[in-house]
Amino acid sequence: MKILIVNAGSSSLKYQLVDMDGERVLAKGLVERIGIAGSKLTQKYPDSEEKFVIETDMPTHVQACENMLKALTNDKYGVVSSMDEIGAVGHRVLHGGEKFTESVVINDKVMDAIRENIPLGPLHNPANLMGIEACQQVMPGTPMVAVFDTAFHQTMPPKAYLYGVPYKYYLNLHVRRYGFHGTSHRYVSKRAAEFLGKKAEDMRIITCHLGNGSSMCAVDHGKCVDTSMGITPLEGVVMGTRSGSLDPAVLQFIMNNAKNENGTPEIKDIDDMLNVLNKKSGLLGISGISSDMRDVDAAADAGDKRAQVARDMLVYGIRKYIGAYAAAMGGVDAIVFTAGIGENGVELREKVMEGFEYMGAKLDPEKNKVRGEERDVSADDSKVKVLVIPTNEEIVIARDTLELVTK
Ligand code: ADP
Repeated sequence: MKILIVNAGSSSLKYQLVDMDGERVLAKGLVERIGIAGSKLTQKYPDSEEKFVIETDMPTHVQACENMLKALTNDKYGVVSSMDEIGAVGHRVLHGGEKFTESVVINDKVMDAIRENIPLGPLHNPANLMGIEACQQVMPGTPMVAVFDTAFHQTMPPKAYLYGVPYKYYLNLHVRRYGFHGTSHRYVSKRAAEFLGKKAEDMRIITCHLGNGSSMCAVDHGKCVDTSMGITPLEGVVMGTRSGSLDPAVLQFIMNNAKNENGTPEIKDIDDMLNVLNKKSGLLGISGISSDMRDVDAAADAGDKRAQVARDMLVYGIRKYIGAYAAAMGGVDAIVFTAGIGENGVELREKVMEGFEYMGAKLDPEKNKVRGEERDVSADDSKVKVLVIPTNEEIVIARDTLELVTK
């Protein structure tokens, strides 16, 4: 069966068509500027430089999906002869709240539940819904599955997911830690165990998903028991533009005291404040240079003090979570690095793993010289395995979709 994977954002839509017979990616595409002048679709193919571009107005996700199907079935650049060859669609959905502990076949009730979770994922869930509705409109009768970023983390115990605020906010407003990147943490923890010839159910694994957004996860015998992101993806280690964890009183202090040159408040309201924490903080805010780790690395190596401290903060944050999660699980058997920085950041991995011998974890600097490849980078005498496992959220979505629609 061929499965289409869709990740819809507010003005973009990413897709992949996978032939599950051999799990081969047939084509990948990106639709940009939906609802904005200059909409564009770009479709690419594995192991090929070839590109297929459609530039036409796409005022809504419906036109984006229509063009996606046109591209996939195009006479010259298509990869299937008709839409009927697509057996099912798997949608990435950000927030499943407490309703979804695993992937589900989409029906009206599921759509209502995703809608109910909009207050928890105000930026992403409405976009995800638009993507699903558009696909339903242009591919009527094709089964669709929702795969939630939060689902893997639903096994956390209350002591890990509750915040120390009055319990009524949990009961009435569902205020709690949810965690994100669940599909990635689930994939790399399972893959790490397979790679070592073991089962995730027999291991304690710490997964470090380090990309533009970063999160840490403690996977105890196959189940998530803690993760660093919270009710939103703002909590945890410093990220590209997000602050990560801080004392919430910082918000009031900045709002009361930060002034423009003419004396007016720099931050107008709480939304403005959250915008600073989400978009202007983290590596970008500290370094003042870039949110991209490669730029921060280059500046730090050239002697820029703020870039150095930004990098140190990220490394230190990851180290603290490794220590915390080893304590939470009573030990650790494997530490896994994934996503852009985790897979490619040779020096960062080295710095993170420095001095963990007391915990039985030691990196081999030679083996560690690897980017974007599945590899054991631990020293031969390291009790704890340190692994690089490239993430593959799409394959998890495709596998879940196949399993649910053929059940
Ligand atoms: P997203 O969270 O958007 O999926 P990615 O997983 O692609 O992000 O990660 C993007 C991050 O990975 C950027 O900070 C980028 O600088 C970093 N990265 C990519 N390649 C390298 C590299 N060779 N060395 C260090 N960091 C890298």
